Amino acid sequence: MTASAQVKLKPGDTIGILGGGQLGRMLALAAARLGLRCQVFSPDPDSPAFDVVQYATCAEYADVEALELFAADVDVITYEFENVPAATAMVLSARRPVLPNYKVLEISQDRLAEKDFVNGLGIATAPYADVASAAGLRAAIGTIGLPAVVKTRRFGYDGKGQAMLREGIDVDAAWADLETKSAILEGFVPFEREISVIAARGADGQVECFDVTENEHRDHILKYSHAPARIPETLAEEARSIATRIATALDYIGVLAVEMFVVPGKTGPTLLVNEIAPRVHNSGHWTLDGASVSQFEQHIRAIAGWPLAKPVRHGAVTMTNLIGDEINDYTRWLTVPGATVHLYGKGAARPGRKMGHVTQVTPPKL
Ligand code: AMP
Repeated sequence: MTASAQVKLKPGDTIGILGGGQLGRMLALAAARLGLRCQVFSPDPDSPAFDVVQYATCAEYADVEALELFAADVDVITYEFENVPAATAMVLSARRPVLPNYKVLEISQDRLAEKDFVNGLGIATAPYADVASAAGLRAAIGTIGLPAVVKTRRFGYDGKGQAMLREGIDVDAAWADLETKSAILEGFVPFEREISVIAARGADGQVECFDVTENEHRDHILKYSHAPARIPETLAEEARSIATRIATALDYIGVLAVEMFVVPGKTGPTLLVNEIAPRVHNSGHWTLDGASVSQFEQHIRAIAGWPLAKPVRHGAVTMTNLIGDEINDYTRWLTVPGATVHLYGKGAARPGRKMGHVTQVTPPKL
């Protein structure tokens, strides 16, 4: 039995959360409902998650002494973002169970490792190639063709660290603009829609998937999620099966999100995996008000060693992100019938910053 399989929290126990953003905040709120405490570790004194927990550690991820004190205070450790430095996760996992296991981070922090892993399971992705120089990029374009998307292997999010390459592109300039030494080139996918599966896997290996979510982006940032996705049930089943296989292969404990493209084909639409997020995910926020259990509670249950819930959706759900100065409209949202408003308590409404979200549920007609 692994250390992780032995975690069995009791009400009153404490979960350590690495990262203090809105995901950490909503995890802590879900934990509180289940009688569990959270301590948040974040280097940012303005972390929105600090507002909802009694104990917080404000220190750098490389501060070993602070990490050791934090570990001593908590019973299990989890994270709300995937770019936790490997060294941080290693220091902590020597002292307390870190769930999901930090080896998952090694895969999801590197787009090349992630794509190799997914393909190794026999699950399709866009064609891709490793690129380490302008000459390498030229060679990859020769194999994969254009249009294509070049992405830094590490630290990309919300469209940052990537560029679309079209016919006639200046390859040297495109490579220089990326300011990296390691990237991948991906074939451009002419998708008909983007979907994601939020899956939870418990310590006993049980997997529960939420209904498939359809996602709409604006300027590379998620703007709307709709559940259920407008796809045939057979495809939805395949999407859930892909997420289940990924979670199982990673020996995952907690919630993960798998983003996929739905690609039109002669014999019907097919799926390509785009990305794995080893954490609760923005496209799962609809579950807070649109299902019998939220992604946050499922994650807490999983890492606590508690049984997972079987999620039941309450109707057709739309989640709208409030991005940047859209937050200024919150009083209007507060008066929209049926809307549930979530504000993250963040300070400056910088462009592109996720400030809150709204869920709207249309119950089925009785
Ligand atoms: P990512 O950071 O990989 O999740 O990419 C962000 C967004 O860029 C995706 O949600 C897609 O809308 C778009 N995108 C990424 N990769 C591709 C691709 N290979 N083909 C078409 N669109 C893509």
